[in-house]
Amino acid sequence: MPEHILSGIKAIVAMKLRRKGLLQKEIAEIIKSDRSIVSHYLSGRYPKEKILKVAEIFEELPPKYGAKLIHSLTDDKELAKNLIEELYNIKFLWDEKSCIACGSCLGCVALTLDNFTVNIDYDACFLCASCIFRCPTNSLNFVRENYD
Ligand code: SF4
Ligand code: SF4
Repeated sequence: MPEHILSGIKAIVAMKLRRKGLLQKEIAEIIKSDRSIVSHYLSGRYPKEKILKVAEIFEELPPKYGAKLIHSLTDDKELAKNLIEELYNIKFLWDEKSCIACGSCLGCVALTLDNFTVNIDYDACFLCASCIFRCPTNSLNFVRENYD
C-alpha cells in the first residue's frame, strides 16, 4: 500500500511539473521513475482513481505533516525531498522573534545555532520536518508559497 500511495503522489507531482513545462525526461529524473511510468502518470492510465484521491488528501495536509508522511513512504530521502518541494511549494522558515535559542531543533547536520541565530543549510536539508516538531515555540515551519 505505501508504494501505491507513493505512486499517487508521484503522479500528482508529474502533472504539476508538466504544467510548468518540464519534459518527460526531466520529470522522470525528479520523481525517480522510468519515462514509461511518467507517461502513464501524465495520461491518467496509472495509478487508479482511488489512489489519486488518497494522494490528493496528502496534498491538502499542512506541509509539515505531509512531509513526515512522505518520508515514511520511502527510504530515499532525496526523492522524498523532491516530492515535498513540488507537492507543497514551500519555504522553510525560521522565526527569529519567537525563537528562544533552546537548541532543541539541533542534531541535524542542516541546522546550526550561532549567536542566537538558527542557520538552515537548504542543500543539506531533506525536509523531514523532525526539527519543526521538536521546536517548542513553533519557530520553524514549512510555509506554502501558493497553491497551484
Ligand atoms: S527538516 Fe529535517 S533535514 Fe531539514 S533541517 Fe529539519 S531535521 Fe534537518
Ligand atoms: S527548537 Fe525552536 S526555539 Fe529552540 S533553537 Fe530551535 S528554532 Fe529556536
